[in-house]
Amino acid sequence: MRRWLVGIGSVVCLIAGMSSRLIAADPPGRSDSNVIYITWDGFRWQEFFGGAQELYISKDAGVTDVAGVKKRFLRETEQERREVLLPFVWTVIAKQGQIFGDQSQNSPARIENKHKFSYPGYSEMFCGFPDDERIASNGKFPNPNVTVLEFLNGRPGFEGKVAGIATWDVFPFILNEGRAKIYVHAGITPIPGNDLSDRQLLLNDMIADTVTLWPDNQIDAITIQAAREYLIRKKPRVLFIGLGETDEWGHGRRYDRYLNAAHRADDFLRRLWDLLQSMPEYKGKTSIVIAPDHGRGGTIRDWTDHGAKVEGAEYIWSAALGPDIPALGVRKETEATLSQIAASLAKLVGEDFNAASPKSAKPLSGLMK
Ligand SMILES: [Zn+2]
Repeated sequence: MRRWLVGIGSVVCLIAGMSSRLIAADPPGRSDSNVIYITWDGFRWQEFFGGAQELYISKDAGVTDVAGVKKRFLRETEQERREVLLPFVWTVIAKQGQIFGDQSQNSPARIENKHKFSYPGYSEMFCGFPDDERIASNGKFPNPNVTVLEFLNGRPGFEGKVAGIATWDVFPFILNEGRAKIYVHAGITPIPGNDLSDRQLLLNDMIADTVTLWPDNQIDAITIQAAREYLIRKKPRVLFIGLGETDEWGHGRRYDRYLNAAHRADDFLRRLWDLLQSMPEYKGKTSIVIAPDHGRGGTIRDWTDHGAKVEGAEYIWSAALGPDIPALGVRKETEATLSQIAASLAKLVGEDFNAASPKSAKPLSGLMK
């Protein structure tokens, strides 16, 4: 996220997912469905598909307890390594849902924007297209483009039922909170509102009392708990949860903490999925989708970084699980882009984002029946 103020151009951007629009549309989802979208900022495809990388479990990559991390996350085979790092992804989603981005299956997933840092990535995934000229920094400027969250909040049955809760304090701008009129809670700020639960009041005390590791980023634990409580109390139909520690520990060259952050994010998915199945508003009619905003470098030297000059940081992954998503597991011979997330989220709740935003890329191919 730390790529400040590259400069904002003024040329109107006409880039769109034109080729993907030629693919025939699949039927829409059910009309009472919900979607929860979770991002893991800057988490690499290398660990997503391959688990912990032995070369990186070293002092060179900032690991303090090399033997301990090896014991926890290193295994004989790639399949064992990824299952021990991300057990919910690989033992549940990979069997009951779909996974995109496996380059060994001729299924690369990539971002379309050229910048390879956060605001352009999040704007691409939420708006459905890259806007390289106007979205060219991580500065706090309101997104000129309409996100799928803003679109959905304007659709019948979704008003006031769309929210975003995230670690990074730029999200109110990326999602254009003011214009979109959606609930956004981001960065190191208290949970807003006058009707907070005891648990939310405790979280606000924790927000005040917790160490500040990064001035622009809350720790994931707070975001996870704030999102969980919001879900239980407000029952949104569309909820975005943005986690950020994977990127921060990557930049900090702490591979041990990078792995632990991903492992906790996976465990959050497990608990979230169980929670959804325990609530009548969500049980059997809610999908979850996960993705990062960009990749990172692919070597022991540059795995910490990303950006236009970092080779390979355009490659990503994504995964989805839900009642209308066929259990195709790891997708083969299927290319995907970050731009396809926006229309995919809309389609999972029975809405057509491509009709409202013609520049947006089509939903992920084969995502729904
Ligand atoms: Zn970053």
